Amino acid sequence: MIKEDKKIKKEGSEKRIGLFGGTFNPIHQGHLRGAEEIREAFQLGKVFFIPSSIPPHKLTTKIIEAKHRLEMARLAISNNPHFSTSDVELLRPGKSYSIDTIRYFLRSQQKTPYFILGRDAFVEIEAWKEFQNLFSICHIIVMARSGFQKAPFFPKLPKSLVPHFRYVPRKKAWIHTSGHRLYFKEISFLDISSTKIRKLIQKGASVRYLIPAEVEGYIQKHRLYQVGP
Ligand code: ATP
Repeated sequence: MIKEDKKIKKEGSEKRIGLFGGTFNPIHQGHLRGAEEIREAFQLGKVFFIPSSIPPHKLTTKIIEAKHRLEMARLAISNNPHFSTSDVELLRPGKSYSIDTIRYFLRSQQKTPYFILGRDAFVEIEAWKEFQNLFSICHIIVMARSGFQKAPFFPKLPKSLVPHFRYVPRKKAWIHTSGHRLYFKEISFLDISSTKIRKLIQKGASVRYLIPAEVEGYIQKHRLYQVGP
């Protein structure tokens, strides 16, 4: 059993867990605030930030080494006892697929995780490996910007998912035929992206308050993101 496995077993045994995957290139306050609001709203005991190794749907040229992205995530979450990092996707050879990560946590935790993602990621979900199976093995929480519940923004499911879900207003959730739930949860979506951070750094502009100070220090120390957006 790898070290991370043991840690997960010990920390998450009685509690609901959230899985938050991303490139985190670098991690920023938008990720952190979103995860914190979801943690509180869904009473998650632990949220795991899981940097991806080679994201299947992204260009890889601008993505810095996984060890740096993981270390920055570690620094960013170090003062929150409800947050943890996992290197499971970095230890697995080949590309990162969320379905494999969820199955890994199902095996090691023996409980149904809550998989967290942003709305921009959700709209592309039909391109994900075994995307239909995702909804059969975990609950999914989509972080949305304010106003999403008003027509015409009321959560629309991708066409191929519609036959498998019914909306239950009382639970404010879409219920999958497997019984698992899909939530759209409004968060105070900060207008920050990793792309924006990288561009600012490349220009030599300030990124203060957009990323944690520890992450800013790490980027300076290792001279990351100096070239290219
Ligand atoms: P990039 O600009 O490089 O595409 P990003 O800022 O979108 O990066 P990712 O690591 O790709 O960050 O995102 C990981 C997850 O966090 C995705 O599900 C994404 O939708 C979500 N996310 C990204 N930015 C925010 C934000 N400001 N608030 C809440 N969630 C976010």
